[in-house]
Amino acid sequence: MAAVLLLHAWIAATAEKVRFTLVPREGVEARLRKYSGDNGQREATLKQLFAEAGCNGHHISEQVVKGSKLPNVMCLLPGSSDKVIIVGAHFDRVSAGDGVVDNWSGASLLPSLYQAVKIEPRKHTYIFIGFTDEEKGLVGSRFYVRQMTKEQVAATDAMVNMDTLGLAPSEVWATHSDKRLIGALASIAKQLNVPLTGVNVDQIGSSDAESFAERKVPRITVHSLTQETWNAAILHTSKDKFSAIRLDDYYETYRLLAAYIAYLDQVADFPAEPMAH
Ligand SMILES: [Zn+2]
Repeated sequence: MAAVLLLHAWIAATAEKVRFTLVPREGVEARLRKYSGDNGQREATLKQLFAEAGCNGHHISEQVVKGSKLPNVMCLLPGSSDKVIIVGAHFDRVSAGDGVVDNWSGASLLPSLYQAVKIEPRKHTYIFIGFTDEEKGLVGSRFYVRQMTKEQVAATDAMVNMDTLGLAPSEVWATHSDKRLIGALASIAKQLNVPLTGVNVDQIGSSDAESFAERKVPRITVHSLTQETWNAAILHTSKDKFSAIRLDDYYETYRLLAAYIAYLDQVADFPAEPMAH
């Protein structure tokens, strides 16, 4: 299913086509159902899902992470420039519950997002990363960011982080996301007629995008926590099960993110921030 989204670019006032393809709902849900096992099993499953999605050979790699028993898993989609968009989600879980919401909901979406953008040549190189040991203190993402060279940091236009999807429609952690990245996401959400609101989760904890903020890489975190879903105490408890996911909302979040990361290829080459008047 290929989709072409016609929209007015958020910076330039010209209509641009955003081309992406969507993995059908059954496919996205089948990947979500593969949450079982410990972190080691999930790392292996993620690698396999990437391979099934067509990311294999030298495009898939593992990064040994100091302080973690497991590596980060990375899938590379080369673009025509040296500019980079990183799309990430942690695959590890805590011992309570099944860790479906937090965060197989994010990790298992990575291969489907890879498929969404690989249908045509892109300017940006995309790096899809499953991070290890987020729950132990952002171990995988911190390691990843700290080994980036100055040049790599400068070349990275966006880091899109997904953590805890499918409890509700898409939410953005507004106080911890780049304003321009939020603007681009809001614009796509409007075009797709998909709900998007800002819900800040500062009191709840952190997520992998914050590692990137340390080196000033523009970042955005998409989640699905609301007051209601937070009150339901699903995260890090026995309630974190497949049945907690609202599958309609989850697929809508996938559609939104697929269009978004395709769109970012066109607009994420940010000019310097305009001067305030
Ligand atoms: Zn998480």
